[in-house]
Amino acid sequence: MAIRAWLLLFMAVALFSWTGHSKFIAYNTTSTIVNGKINVHLVPHTHDDVGWLKTIDQYYVGSNNSIQDACVQNVLDSLVPALLADKNRKFIYAFFQRWWDEQSEVVKSTVKKLVNSGQLELINGGMCMHDEAATHYIDMIDQTTLGHRFIKAEFNVTPRIGWQIDPFGHSAVQAYLLGAEVGFDSFFFGRIDYQDRAKRKNDKTLEVVWRGSKSLGSSSQIFAGAFPENYEPPSRFYYEVNSGTDDPIVQDNPNLFDYNVMERVNQFVAAAISQANITRTNHVMWTMGTDFQYQYARTWFRQMDKFIHYVNQDGRVNALYSTPSIYTDAKHAADEYWPLKSEDYFPYADKQNAYWTGYFTSRPALKGYVRVTSAYYLAARQLEFFRGKSKAGPNTDYLADALAIAQHHDAVSGTSKQHVADDYAKRIAIGYSEAEKVVAASLSQLTNSASKTGYNHSSIKYQQEINDLKCPLLNISYCPPSEVDLSKGKNLVIVVYNPLGWKREDVVKIPIVDENVVVKDFRGKEIESQFIPLSHVSVAIRKYHAKAYLGKLPKVTPRYWLAFSAIVPPLGFSTYTVSSAKGAAAGGGSEKESVNVSARNEDHKIQVGSGNLKLFYSKKSGQLTKYINKRSMVDESVEQSFGYYSGDDGSVDMQASGAYIFRPNLTYPIRYEKKIGPIPINDGIGKEIVTKISSSLKSNKKFYTDSNGRDFIERIRDYRKDWNLEVNQPVAGNYYPINLGIYTKDKSSELSLLVDRAVGGSSIVDGQLELMLHRRLLEDDDRGVAEALNETVCIADNCQGLTIVGKYYLRVDPLGEGAKWRRSYGQELYSPFLLAFTEQDEHNWNSHVPTFYGMSPSYALPDNVAILTLQELEGGKVLLRLAHLYEVGEDKDLSIMASVELKKVFNNKKINSIEETSLSANQKRSEMEKKRLVWKVKGSSKEPKVLRGRPIDQKNLVVELFPMEIRTFIINFYS
Ligand SMILES: [Zn+2]
Repeated sequence: MAIRAWLLLFMAVALFSWTGHSKFIAYNTTSTIVNGKINVHLVPHTHDDVGWLKTIDQYYVGSNNSIQDACVQNVLDSLVPALLADKNRKFIYAFFQRWWDEQSEVVKSTVKKLVNSGQLELINGGMCMHDEAATHYIDMIDQTTLGHRFIKAEFNVTPRIGWQIDPFGHSAVQAYLLGAEVGFDSFFFGRIDYQDRAKRKNDKTLEVVWRGSKSLGSSSQIFAGAFPENYEPPSRFYYEVNSGTDDPIVQDNPNLFDYNVMERVNQFVAAAISQANITRTNHVMWTMGTDFQYQYARTWFRQMDKFIHYVNQDGRVNALYSTPSIYTDAKHAADEYWPLKSEDYFPYADKQNAYWTGYFTSRPALKGYVRVTSAYYLAARQLEFFRGKSKAGPNTDYLADALAIAQHHDAVSGTSKQHVADDYAKRIAIGYSEAEKVVAASLSQLTNSASKTGYNHSSIKYQQEINDLKCPLLNISYCPPSEVDLSKGKNLVIVVYNPLGWKREDVVKIPIVDENVVVKDFRGKEIESQFIPLSHVSVAIRKYHAKAYLGKLPKVTPRYWLAFSAIVPPLGFSTYTVSSAKGAAAGGGSEKESVNVSARNEDHKIQVGSGNLKLFYSKKSGQLTKYINKRSMVDESVEQSFGYYSGDDGSVDMQASGAYIFRPNLTYPIRYEKKIGPIPINDGIGKEIVTKISSSLKSNKKFYTDSNGRDFIERIRDYRKDWNLEVNQPVAGNYYPINLGIYTKDKSSELSLLVDRAVGGSSIVDGQLELMLHRRLLEDDDRGVAEALNETVCIADNCQGLTIVGKYYLRVDPLGEGAKWRRSYGQELYSPFLLAFTEQDEHNWNSHVPTFYGMSPSYALPDNVAILTLQELEGGKVLLRLAHLYEVGEDKDLSIMASVELKKVFNNKKINSIEETSLSANQKRSEMEKKRLVWKVKGSSKEPKVLRGRPIDQKNLVVELFPMEIRTFIINFYS
């Protein structure tokens, strides 16, 4: 009853008020920067993940809302009228293309006006806000280029700001390469270690000038700001519609109850002063928004209008609508000296015992798939260029899109829900199968000799045949085109394409059914080959996964891997034929032995290797014990073992290991396995499988890990260069992301490991390197995913833990010799041979081109240069990106300037004009350099002179590259 009486009273008051003296208030939102006052830059933003708890499509259309109430369409639809309603309002947006494509010409033209006037600022500008730990720099460049070129084409705009607010730690490569080298003026982010953040607040060093590269130094530095908290507004200033929060709105109608203008202005001023106290200059930024906000944009703008109006009437501080660009210009104009930051912000912990280092390895299968398809995309674009890009026919665009989205900070990071991870993989698979058609068509055309010799053999439906014969399941030892019966006179032709710019020899390995075969090179000469029996484990994996993926068992079971060494010219292919041994000369080059086991010693050791390199394995455990390389005089006892960390179940303080967080408990030794999984969980304990390589190197706590596969950064165990680390997680707190490799060294040797996908790794004990290879966990880590990272593969309802078939590579070198292997072999690992198969009669095949040179046959790129991109763009233009692979001082022979002769690279075409661009190919390099803001650095000691290649001479067309330089060009050819 009491409640009812109150309700009646309330209604009476409301009615009374309604008939009172309310009137329209015109809020003054025109304020700009006021010198001498604290300026609060209100930056309205939303953070729309391209997949996390829902798939990218579900987020876009706003379905599956029981998981998360989020609809990107609503955000953008409501944004346009909200901005039009007041020209002082501003907004920044980072992911946009899908919505844009669906708009009418009227809306498009309105939005273009908003972008041109600066009311709507497009920032970051990639296809997604990529992860910074599990991403390879080539993928980061590709996805940023795709977005930047789209924005340039539609709006004629080049984004100025890096906006990586959510990724879980920040990389050196992001700062210098995807920041300074794409022409950004500044770079902002939200997540750094809680201890680091506390110190930076204290000494006002959240905002810095960041020099991410030792080699490129100040020539690629950027102004970088970490937020004081997360990327949300200060506490009590949150205004999403229907969000269920109680943050008080500004109630400024004196005729209603709860009038609170003064109270709210005081709170605003207090929050501004508190932030100003930890910030240099009198400019502070408030990030007004968070994940999937502004679904009804006016709720936010209405409150900000009022704050700007009343706070500026009050006058203690100045509030304004702003963007990161306006904020950056204000910081620059302040003429302040900024502290210098080098290296990176890894690993990230958001509190004690909560290191976000597990995600470096989470979902290793997806990480591996991204790596394999990324390499395929690189090669497929080259072949697409050699053939000529087809608008109508199959092209590589779908794969480009799928891979771009897969770089998102909840995609390749492994931190999405399972159904979303499946969605990313599905998109890649569709793109891959489209790209395969491009590859087949191109190789068909290139191998077809008709144009060169005048032969016409249209009877061979070559393209169709190559099209049908693809082999994407080689990782489960399943390759239908190679598992053919050759006893009836057919030959299996293998086209081996080399996407690297130098000639290379590498082993090709394919499963075969019939071991009575020989391999011939393109001259028809029989070459040495080996037959390696398929292990029982491989056969079992093949059977299970063929059933799970294809729904049926393969008709035949291959008994052997056929392995042979292929020699392939740079940017070219060689063909090899496999044919029945009947009729071939007896005693050919084939050998049916699995590995070259040359001696079995008395002391229970197996020695492998007949040349300079000898490896000794324990007979009992099968694990590596000794490594001898006679040529480099290395004799090192190296021990390899596997172990696992049992994932903490959170029973002590409720912080469990999950998709983001790695918090191990104790280590137990387990037996050596080549294929990791299914990880047993019958004991109710999640496990994180590691391999450890131990040596006698006196590494003195130091080891080195790459930044996104590019620069190596020195790591010191239990130590941070930027603050006094309080160690509370001696394992997880020493884990770092690895995309290329990890190494350690002492006064005489280097011990290196290279990886085939993104993983986490460390050196927990001197002389030892450790990689985390797989994880299967039974608890959620309470960071939003609300699912345990427990990946399975199923046949009907029968599921088992996911198996990972992976590789890593180990080498010991004398001190100073390791870089050659890490860099040059590392590039070969990234870009393996691309294989295509066809079945032919020998007679028919002989009329084909057996080997192809994409460059001048006498030319190869220098050993320290790789082609990152060779891609045909719209209108026949070509995007070329060349990278120097070595850092300053890394190798005595190869850390020097390299030159590339473009006339020889494109010896079949004639270059009409060439223009050097920013890294993301959206503006001229010279224009970008002209606009670059110059920042003053505090106490900056003199750095050695940074060397960069000279502008390209249009006549001699030679590109100079200094250590770690990447140069991007757009080329026009004479047709
Ligand atoms: Zn996010």
